[in-house]
Amino acid sequence: MGNCNKCGKDCNEIKINQFDHSFHLGNVSEGCKRCIKGEKLVLFITGKCAQQCYYCPVSEHKFGHDKIFADEWEIEDNEQGWKNLVKEVKLINAKGAGITGGDPLCVLERTCKYIKRMKEQFGKDFHVHLYTPLKLINKEVLVKLNESGLDEIRFHPDLDDDKLWDKLLLAKDFVWDIGIEIPCVPGKEFEIKKLIDFVAEHDIIKFFNLNELERSDTSVEHYSLPNDQFPTIDQISYAIQGSKELAELFVNHVNEKNYDFTIYFCTAKLKDGTQLTNRLKRRAKSLAKLPYNKLTDEGTLIKGVIYLEELKPGFDYKEKLVQLSSEYKGKLLEKLNEQKDLIEKTIKRTNQIFIDEKKFRLLCSLKILEKNVKKIKKINLIPAIVEEMPTEDAMELEIEFL
Ligand code: SF4
Repeated sequence: MGNCNKCGKDCNEIKINQFDHSFHLGNVSEGCKRCIKGEKLVLFITGKCAQQCYYCPVSEHKFGHDKIFADEWEIEDNEQGWKNLVKEVKLINAKGAGITGGDPLCVLERTCKYIKRMKEQFGKDFHVHLYTPLKLINKEVLVKLNESGLDEIRFHPDLDDDKLWDKLLLAKDFVWDIGIEIPCVPGKEFEIKKLIDFVAEHDIIKFFNLNELERSDTSVEHYSLPNDQFPTIDQISYAIQGSKELAELFVNHVNEKNYDFTIYFCTAKLKDGTQLTNRLKRRAKSLAKLPYNKLTDEGTLIKGVIYLEELKPGFDYKEKLVQLSSEYKGKLLEKLNEQKDLIEKTIKRTNQIFIDEKKFRLLCSLKILEKNVKKIKKINLIPAIVEEMPTEDAMELEIEFL
């Protein structure tokens, strides 16, 4: 067993986090440590996957589609996309990246290119881990991943079919951290225990991660976690009943057998709460440096917004923005520039009004907005105080028209 995170000794004590109820025995992996703090960029490298897991949490908008996302930001596989990825890393002040999908090995060259470029750009301490099922694993693939600089590889073996499990042995020939990461599926006690004993017998891994099984909103064809068979723990949670209790059993099993690897149970609350909130808070903190953003304690942003009448948010606001033609966008930008000049002249201050080229609106500090409501309305513009998520799509949480 690895040294304890608390006392630094080989104490064989199961640690339980009182806030999110995750627990572990042994040292949590480096990738997880950084992830929990919100320090990891989530690089969704493709939605393609050769596997069809019945519990797959990937949404139908992503699964099977060859799309790339740097956190919530969809990026292209080109220089502009790379610049956006770099911007995202800086915004969250990332100390590493977790590459996920789909199966990153479906686009192996792309995956290796991004690992290499991230290492070159952010330094060798920028910790990169990757998740993959076993289907596309072979020696050559592992050589390429390892040569790209991958620090940690997490395998997701098929629990119902052990014929590919031997592929795990191939990963031992390289210098990196090896882990297993699977959902803790109630009813799979025998299969998961078999996998735990298999990796212990062959001395393959440094850590075994069990994720609390969660219900997903996805409607991908192969997704089949029926409500009656897999009820959630309560009405507001997505976590499935029995997953946590099963994980406790495996932690005790590893403890009793004195296996030499960490076993870690990551709860839905940790993944969807702590980890995501921490990452968004980091992003919000960076964005709060802009003069029109005010950071809230919850990590959201409040801004002063001035809308054009034709783009006043309503029930079809999102679709309206998506459907704007490039010709019309050009005209809107021209108009926003004129209105920005007009407002600045009216309020007798320069460089206080900013153009939001994504949502085609004007932004300013709350102070400027509240002080000039009448003047703004007089020129047929619509002032509002808007609370938004600090994500790239700046999702509106509340709009208060003044
Ligand atoms: S390997 Fe991952 S992405 Fe592919 S089907 Fe399974 S859970 Fe979904």
